[in-house]
Amino acid sequence: MEDQIIKRFMTSIKCSVCGQHYDIDDVQILDHKENLWFFSVSCSNCKTQCLVAAVIKEDRKPSGITDLTEVELDKFRNLDNITTNEVLDMHSFLESFNGDFTQLFSEDI
Ligand SMILES: [Zn+2]
Repeated sequence: MEDQIIKRFMTSIKCSVCGQHYDIDDVQILDHKENLWFFSVSCSNCKTQCLVAAVIKEDRKPSGITDLTEVELDKFRNLDNITTNEVLDMHSFLESFNGDFTQLFSEDI
């Protein structure tokens, strides 16, 4: 998918601190793996930086392709669906995460 289209998608998202919509120039694409994209965005208004992960699907791609085996598919079917709480946890993590991976991974757990 074109970077510009992805970035335009990001402009529909508001800064979690001051509520300003991001500009295309505020968005930096870090990486993507299939439909999962990682962005670093910095708000032009309040200068807050944050990391955004988004699943972006291309419509023309066929859905349902998988390299999982039948056994694996059965296993995942029986797992609980992602709960609202888990999504909220991720949301609050991303809100507080400052984009510093080096610091994140060097923290003592
Ligand atoms: Zn802001």
